[in-house]
Amino acid sequence: MMTNSPSYSYPHHPYIGRFAPSPSGPLHFGSLVSALASYLDAKAHHGKWLVRMEDIDPPREIDGAAATILQQLQQHGLYWDGDVLHQSQRSKAYLTVLEKLKQSNLAYPCQCSRQQLKEKGGVHNHPCLPGNPAKPSAIRLAISNDAKVEFKDLFQGQQQQDIKYLVGDMVLYRKDGLFAYQLAVVIDDAFQNITHVIRGSDLLDSTPRQIYLQQQLALHTPLYGHIPIAINSTGHKLSKQNLATPINYDTPAMNVATAIRWLGLPLPKLHHNNCNDLLAWAIQHWQRGLIPPVMERLASS
Ligand SMILES: [Zn+2]
Repeated sequence: MMTNSPSYSYPHHPYIGRFAPSPSGPLHFGSLVSALASYLDAKAHHGKWLVRMEDIDPPREIDGAAATILQQLQQHGLYWDGDVLHQSQRSKAYLTVLEKLKQSNLAYPCQCSRQQLKEKGGVHNHPCLPGNPAKPSAIRLAISNDAKVEFKDLFQGQQQQDIKYLVGDMVLYRKDGLFAYQLAVVIDDAFQNITHVIRGSDLLDSTPRQIYLQQQLALHTPLYGHIPIAINSTGHKLSKQNLATPINYDTPAMNVATAIRWLGLPLPKLHHNNCNDLLAWAIQHWQRGLIPPVMERLASS
């Protein structure tokens, strides 16, 4: 039933984009580039740019990181529209959707151990036997056998994924009592009426899963664009694990200029020396076609 290409026409809807960091540390250069890309695409289309704090995984979070990220965005001239949405405040909405999926037999409890999952080849694609109701359960989405999702990425072109066999019945709620990222992001993108998701290509694999879940919940599917993740000279993704590339707090304008060039915009040298002027220039010159399609450039170039 599910060889679906999502429909994504919003002729009467205004553009609403978002940046959705998780507070597992301060922004690094790669996340600054992602924030900037989503900001520029929204502003170049006269859209709104929202910020959502994806703080639903306390064990991975660092105290104060959420405040630091917001401060860093402002320091770089990236001011968001409206209030920041915190996923930690959204449990009720997530539980309501989980309940609805269970009642429609689209989700089932699972108590499989890591070892049992390994025996299934790492892909859990059939409902398992009911376990002990006294023990904690995860909740998995029952994915149909022909669940192939296709979509056209704004920067990476046509994409497809056979979810049933590649991913299996994905976890929506974890045995340890935490909501899964895929569930929360789908519910919140719909809640915030997001029309465009511009983010790093480390999330490209997640997108078909999110589209599938949107279809199960009869939610709209935004347009997606995944930008290349910044890599360093050793070819590693710039991330919080790569401490060699923190943002220099003293040079916000230079950080923004480097990120603008990273996104393929031909910013003239020494053109501007403050963030607001740089961002105004970049909004005016933003072109999706300039985004490099592959991860090949150095962050320092
Ligand atoms: Zn199971």
